[in-house]
Amino acid sequence: MFETTTVGSLPKPDWLAEPERLWPTWRLDCQALQDGKERAALEWLREQEAAGIDIVGDGEQFRIHFVHGFLAQLEGIDWNRKTRMGIRNNRYEADVPTVTGPLARPKAIHAADAAFMRAQTTRRLKVTLPGPMTICDTLADGYYGRREDMAMRFAELLNAEAKELVAAGADVIQFDEPAFNVFIDEVRDWGLPALERALQGLSVTTAVHICYGYGIEANIRWKESLGDQWRQYERIFPWINASSVQQVSLEFAGSRVPHEVLRLLPEKELLVGAIEVLPGKLESAEEVAHNILEATRHVEKSRLLPCTNCGMAPLSAELARGKLRALGAGAALARSRG
Ligand code: ZN
Repeated sequence: MFETTTVGSLPKPDWLAEPERLWPTWRLDCQALQDGKERAALEWLREQEAAGIDIVGDGEQFRIHFVHGFLAQLEGIDWNRKTRMGIRNNRYEADVPTVTGPLARPKAIHAADAAFMRAQTTRRLKVTLPGPMTICDTLADGYYGRREDMAMRFAELLNAEAKELVAAGADVIQFDEPAFNVFIDEVRDWGLPALERALQGLSVTTAVHICYGYGIEANIRWKESLGDQWRQYERIFPWINASSVQQVSLEFAGSRVPHEVLRLLPEKELLVGAIEVLPGKLESAEEVAHNILEATRHVEKSRLLPCTNCGMAPLSAELARGKLRALGAGAALARSRG
């Protein structure tokens, strides 16, 4: 009961990349970079195990950014043709690469990293990928013309990648779709169909992560603008519940998400955010247990997996370590009371 997991990303150590940045620069190159990524991933794996996290991952130590790590290996994207774009509906501006031709995936992208992790742990291994809609909101289209067409092509490539990750030993494949909370009508029209295409034929547990973003300034301001109750989940969850994805990772702790929205996903396992990702706040085990038990008022314990609200990449490594420990200890406390 109350098996724990995280959304995915963890801070990169400052000897590997610039700390507390969303788009950092690597500080190593060539073989030293590869060795450094493996060392960092291994250190975080041991941290997760020591903290009592049940479903573990590489903390995204192998990729520079949760979307661009995947995109960097594809054909059809011009990285020198940067387009300044307002992403997540103009929440922040970024210089993004541009699709200039047919997209292709010449070889597996994260499979070797997944195989490395598989060889290091007996715990269940989660590997995350960016969802097709979120990818389409994080790069510019100079070729397909319609976002839904580009999303479906990305979905095909993601599906092929996910199958190789399963072959490499992944037990859970999670697609990150923060854009689902922003482009609500498009979720129904093409976001969810594209996600379904990405999930097609996967033989392991599948998950989608839908959140209100990292604990960074632009997101904090956006959240302030959303009013007393955040109703986005209320609209999309009925569609998600009817989809084939098995787990839904959602923001809960410290948010203005109405708690009863958990009831809109009766067919799914819920990865409930019991840890906030704001900088500077470290929860106690007691607070985490409280968050978990609050969620049990709306979802059966057997379907509840305590998780973080979002990725912890922008936080300090010390804070992220503390939060992993609080998550593990809080879940243990909730179990003892449950
Ligand atoms: Zn997130």
